[in-house]
Amino acid sequence: MKNEKAVVVFSGGQDSTTCLFWALDHFAEVETVTFNYNQRHSLEIDCAASIAEELGVKHTVLDMSLLNQLAPNALTRGDIEIEHKEGELPSTFVDGRNLLFLSFAAVLAKQVGARHIVTGVCETDFSGYPDCRDVFVKSLNVTLNLAMDYQFVIHTPLMWINKAETWKLADELGAFNFVREKTLTCYNGIIGDGCGECPACKLRAAGLAEYVAERKGAGA
Ligand SMILES: [Zn+2]
Repeated sequence: MKNEKAVVVFSGGQDSTTCLFWALDHFAEVETVTFNYNQRHSLEIDCAASIAEELGVKHTVLDMSLLNQLAPNALTRGDIEIEHKEGELPSTFVDGRNLLFLSFAAVLAKQVGARHIVTGVCETDFSGYPDCRDVFVKSLNVTLNLAMDYQFVIHTPLMWINKAETWKLADELGAFNFVREKTLTCYNGIIGDGCGECPACKLRAAGLAEYVAERKGAGA
């Protein structure tokens, strides 16, 4: 795949930034695409743009504000609290969001001559998003190939690994400090280790602590 081109679905968060480093390691040419759907913090778009610039990859921002119209939710509307009740979908859920993102990414990828699409979806920390499951991604891959008569390959380097293993992957790619210091996962818009209080920060911190402990144990 070294002589081919890939488009990375990129939010500026830990997962997609790790995927971006993975893509840079695997492909000759890499571009990024970020979806703007009136996230709580336009800082998320700014963060993605500055990471792309620093890594020297083209960054396209696509307007997906129609998602806000379709499915008002906690990420796009400040008046709805972010909450995640046990056994229920989180209030940040937008039906079909990943379906739409991957489909638009594919249209863009074909336009720029890229066959490969890289996305950070993950079934291990599965929080109930049906269109982040491996079976869905494989199904969509077939559908996209038929829809556009093109041989896309969707890559999901994080599909079967947990948060600690995602930190490990970043480390193996030489990107541990970069991902830790420059990515934005926090719902309160704080880059790096974040606010420490929101669900996204807690998940990220737990994975980081687990990986750092494991790395110490290994004597690294
Ligand atoms: Zn936070």
